[in-house]
Amino acid sequence: MVVLGGGVAGLAAAYYLARDGWPVTVVERAAALGGLCGSFQSHGFTLDHGPHKLYSVVPGILDEIRSLLGDRLIEHKKRNRIRLLGRYLDYPLSLGNLLPLLGPRRAARLGLGYAAAVAGGALGRRDPASYEDYVLQRFGRGVYELVFEPLAWKVWGDPRQLSVDLARARIPSSGATELVLRLLKLKENSEDVDAPFFYYPRGGFGEFPARLASEVRRHGGRILTSAVPRAFERANGSVRAVHVESAGASERLACATLVSSIPMASLAQLLQPGDAGLAAEVGQLRLRDLALVYLVLGQERLVDDHWIFFPERRYPFNRLFEQKSMDASLGPPGLTAICCDLTCDEGDAVWAAPDDELVRRCLDALVEAGLTTPDKLRAGFVRRFRSFYPMYTVDYRERLGRIYVRLKQAENLVLTGRVGMFNYNNSDHCLDMGRFIAAGMAAGTSPGEIWSGLEERVRSYRIID
Ligand SMILES: Cc1cc2nc3c(=O)[nH]c(=O)nc-3n(C[C@H](O)[C@H](O)[C@H](O)COP(=O)(O)OP(=O)(O)OC[C@H]3O[C@@H](n4cnc5c(N)ncnc54)[C@H](O)[C@@H]3O)c2cc1C
Repeated sequence: MVVLGGGVAGLAAAYYLARDGWPVTVVERAAALGGLCGSFQSHGFTLDHGPHKLYSVVPGILDEIRSLLGDRLIEHKKRNRIRLLGRYLDYPLSLGNLLPLLGPRRAARLGLGYAAAVAGGALGRRDPASYEDYVLQRFGRGVYELVFEPLAWKVWGDPRQLSVDLARARIPSSGATELVLRLLKLKENSEDVDAPFFYYPRGGFGEFPARLASEVRRHGGRILTSAVPRAFERANGSVRAVHVESAGASERLACATLVSSIPMASLAQLLQPGDAGLAAEVGQLRLRDLALVYLVLGQERLVDDHWIFFPERRYPFNRLFEQKSMDASLGPPGLTAICCDLTCDEGDAVWAAPDDELVRRCLDALVEAGLTTPDKLRAGFVRRFRSFYPMYTVDYRERLGRIYVRLKQAENLVLTGRVGMFNYNNSDHCLDMGRFIAAGMAAGTSPGEIWSGLEERVRSYRIID
């Protein structure tokens, strides 16, 4: 079997398959494994790609994580907040924290919005048509305009053009009724909207993919890095071999089953080279890009939180993350490393801005937010990633369905992962997908049926903050 991509999704599939005794080869284009879940060294720190925690509400996945990483897991009680209206508030938001900040007019408007949303919930609602619709129905216009609208614009784009699936996957509450119940202490935060704790692998998040990789090898699997898939060999509706180039040499990897976690555009190109129609359809699936701005500051710690959300437009980033909050040993004493994540599109003002300018903008925002002073900056740099945020536009599901029909002509192909399946997910979901694929193979299910099963399964995934 050949697995394309050595991020967590590809490595997880390879791990479960190798453990079951299948011969597996992973093909990773980059020199390092782990994809966005990998860690790297810089300025004396071990750094992650933004805040990464290990947590799951998918049955059995936390046990899988414990059995993989054992006593290397640090258990954290989650501390995170949101910056709104010049204050830091607990996250997920509660009305109790919010109302005193609003002033009578805004509070009344927000209260009316809530009341209407609660009443709407009690009376039963029509199906929401978009992300905006979903949030308005559940939270009312006040909270929508304050939090969810600016956050959506920053991370994904126009909320009227975004699918309701995105809201379902990403918003940590089922609505105003639940928030009011929580405010009145009639209901506790449940673990499927707010992780009560999370795990972090000692030594950096990259220890997680590294452990998966060492398990793949221990079970006899092969992993090729700096290896680029150049062509597929097709026969009788299946992919029979992958031709790979690495270190100037090429190799033919025979494959009974092909698992792909690489971007769909790259896969389509390999599968149907010269099919302009397929390439155009895949090109319409929008993935937003990511710029991670790292700042090294001359102070021991910046905040007490693991991360803080910054939905307001005046802050250039979505979130602030302090690496030492996960594991204090990841950097030298007297210094701290901050990562600010910015969603962008190749060629836009953020993507094209020089590193120094982005570092300066983020530093200015941290100063404005009362967290540091300009003289503390010791170093700053930027890492950019193409195509990492699947943008669920209102028509994405139909388009994805059409693309899947075309790709499924390769009968021994299964897709997995975040960019591989165009699914908004976290690393625990990637682990679950790998487990699902191996269970299907063990049961003798065909790759096409496993893929269809995964399509169903990924719709239930929720990102838990
Ligand atoms: C800011 C941020 C915060 C996050 N927080 C969390 C969190 O708290 N917890 C959590 O669990 N998840 C979190 N995630 C999500 C997590 O990063 C993803 O779910 C996970 O990385 C997806 O893994 P993947 O293997 O599907 O994709 P990737 O990590 O993108 O891996 C794909 C791999 O394929 C390789 N590749 C690409 N093209 C080719 C090719 N042509 N040939 C061969 N190889 C190729 C790439 O180099 C890469 O290694 C976060 C993500 C971001 C951006």
